Amino acid sequence: MDQILQAVIDGAPGDELAQLPLPESYRAAFVRRDEVEMFAGVESDDKDPRKSLHVDRVALPELAPDEAYVAVMASSINFNTVWTSIFEPLPTFGFLDRLGKESKWGARHALDYHVVGSDASGVVLRAGSAVRKWRPGDRVTVHCNYVDDQDPSAHDDSMLADNQRIWGFESNFGGLADVTVVKANQLMPKPRHLSWEEAAVNALCNSTAYRMLVSRNGAPVAQGERVLVWGATGGLGSFAVQYALNGGATPVGVVSSPEKVSLLHDLGVEAVIDRRAAGYRFWSDEHTQDEREWRRLGKDIRGLVGEDPDIVFEHPGRQTMGASVFVCKRGGTVVTCAATSGYMIEYDNRHLWMKLKTIKGSHFANYREAWNANQLVCEGKILPPLSAVYPLVEVGEATLQVQRNLHEGKIGVLCLAPTEGLGIEDPELRARVGEERITLFRRHGA
Ligand code: NDP
Repeated sequence: MDQILQAVIDGAPGDELAQLPLPESYRAAFVRRDEVEMFAGVESDDKDPRKSLHVDRVALPELAPDEAYVAVMASSINFNTVWTSIFEPLPTFGFLDRLGKESKWGARHALDYHVVGSDASGVVLRAGSAVRKWRPGDRVTVHCNYVDDQDPSAHDDSMLADNQRIWGFESNFGGLADVTVVKANQLMPKPRHLSWEEAAVNALCNSTAYRMLVSRNGAPVAQGERVLVWGATGGLGSFAVQYALNGGATPVGVVSSPEKVSLLHDLGVEAVIDRRAAGYRFWSDEHTQDEREWRRLGKDIRGLVGEDPDIVFEHPGRQTMGASVFVCKRGGTVVTCAATSGYMIEYDNRHLWMKLKTIKGSHFANYREAWNANQLVCEGKILPPLSAVYPLVEVGEATLQVQRNLHEGKIGVLCLAPTEGLGIEDPELRARVGEERITLFRRHGA
């Protein structure tokens, strides 16, 4: 790998890179099949990703004709790596076994280790014989929608494909590694003004927020609308508030500390609620919700922006969904993609039907949506919310930070990149976008 790394850092031409021998094994972060019971009887919050995530060498799999090997310079921690590392709600080996039954190429994935990670920035090392658009040497980011393009159901909107998967979560050979194996239709150009680690933290959360708030497949915001964003400095939320601002809407960010309030103000979000300071108790006990507390949140939102939110950007799930449905405007939409605090949801249906509201489910993004979202990063119109950087060997600690909600924005992980700050190809664009804006989360996180 040393030769490959040096060639990448030196900006060696693609045909030179293509001549370099590939290693038989590479460094990767993975969970093990024989450890899926290791946290049996332990409370979710006490399950420790540092125990289940290993970093060691694994064999380089064969390349399918429609795939590429990418030398991963940097990756990021997504919440799906938290789920995989605590084996909740299910161990991910079931996904790999199912993929393993689909084809000869699928069979490569059904292993006793699962290389995780659903984001990457890096350089194409080899492209399979059926790859037309990408070549060795191309600098790329990777989105995580993993679909079989020979399946008719994968056309129109590939998120509706029968066998749609998330790379590095429902497939093996993910991005938290020195090399990854991806389908060519996961590749996108790397933003030239960003470093490897800044470029690596966007694709998953940015594309998801784009589908939810920009694409017609979600709940697209209109100018002048109000958008309530839970976890507004988190992975998804930090992109959601940017989309609301870019679209001429007014985001109302909900966060849980004065530091996060100040970060949002610096990002240009004026209306912010500190949910911890407000002390909302939407649940009076494990089974009972308190409508008065929903009403208090609604009043706080009106106090800030004058009206109920047209759109609620929802992902905490059980803890907040009752409140989200309640505070959403008459005729408005709650768009949801997750349930971090529990997926068995309860809300008062009278507030939904009598006020003609919609709950819209959303999941990642199709290639077009991911591409458009990436393009906005390339143009400097969406900023990377990178707040901290860890080396790959500390992937367990980095994952713990996200699991325990100790982070802001996104945590980057250096894979092949030896230090931060490498990979910037267009310093003029960087200066135009503004160093201060690009590094806003990093400076807050430091
Ligand atoms: P982060 O942890 O980065 O951010 C989530 C934020 O939500 C937290 O920072 C916290 O902010 C807030 N939050 C957490 N629990 C609660 C709660 N009980 N009540 C109110 N707010 C809460 O995670 P991501 O944004 O990356 O992901 C969020 C969820 O979305 C995860 O479950 C993830 O798996 C899922 N996801 C789904 C995708 C899809 O395609 N379907 C794509 C990406 C993520 P604060 O404490 O400041 O309020």
